[in-house]
Amino acid sequence: MAKNLTKEVLEDWLENVRPLARDGKVADYIPALAKQDPDELAVAVYDLDGECISAGNLVCCFTLQSISKVLSLALALMDNGEEYVFERVGMEPTGDPFHSIYRLEQHAPSKPLNPMINAGALAVTNMIHGATPDEKVGRLLSFIHEMTDDQSIRYNEDVAVSEFQTAYLNRSLCYYMKQHGVIEGSVEENLDAYTKQCAIEVNINHLARIGAIFANDGKDLESGRQIIPRHLARICKTFMVTCGMYDASGSFAIRVGIPAKSGVSGAVVGSVNGFGGIAVYGAALDEKGNSVVGLKLLELLANRYDLSIF
Ligand code: GLU
Repeated sequence: MAKNLTKEVLEDWLENVRPLARDGKVADYIPALAKQDPDELAVAVYDLDGECISAGNLVCCFTLQSISKVLSLALALMDNGEEYVFERVGMEPTGDPFHSIYRLEQHAPSKPLNPMINAGALAVTNMIHGATPDEKVGRLLSFIHEMTDDQSIRYNEDVAVSEFQTAYLNRSLCYYMKQHGVIEGSVEENLDAYTKQCAIEVNINHLARIGAIFANDGKDLESGRQIIPRHLARICKTFMVTCGMYDASGSFAIRVGIPAKSGVSGAVVGSVNGFGGIAVYGAALDEKGNSVVGLKLLELLANRYDLSIF
């Protein structure tokens, strides 16, 4: 573990940043997410030797939401190869909110600009191999079980149903892309798979371990087995840098400077080559959709341990 990085240090930082939770707001456009407690905070660091230290609420689970986009991208790339995926989804950051629709019409033939915005992620989920939504989600879960070494991870049924029933905007994005041939098959089934993927529930240590596997070039921490091919892990980390933190990715790159992906549940995963994985959770979000407490904790860690990749 990094020098002087102890559980006590993380606990201290967590208590120092706790008041910031008052400055944010829990996401409520997915009704089930509104039930999250903004005072429940957690942070974990997983190093490349497989050592993990964490502080805060370690038992509680939260849903991955947009963090799942990194994992679905990795799986779709492994299933189909780079060429196939990037013929259908672009590589450029947008600077727009994650659910924005208007660039789809600007970029013929309606190709989403990148896999981290909702349009791109919905197209990526469509590419995961599997005959049914449950088969796709089952494959994604197996992939996550392999990364976390925990077979018990599931998706939260209530959160998935709550999002599916209210996903008017994501439904519109899908139907638009279906019209233009970007999405194949049933839109409702694609949305079913996507909302279940976003509702996959993990704890803070699971998430930090996922970050560490990306930092370890896709290799399992103990056995060294290649779970994600190195060049694909690198692609995922690059998207985390350019568009992982919504339309605050630029300022995050300057202030923190590590590949990271945020979700509207208030979780963020960071991945630092040569260091490991970092996970933070705090449901109160700023106006861009990033956890206020999470951002501060990442900034503290990056500054103290000189983690910026730039
Ligand atoms: N399931 C959420 C949505 O599609 C994920 C958004 C996010 O975490 O950014 O709206």
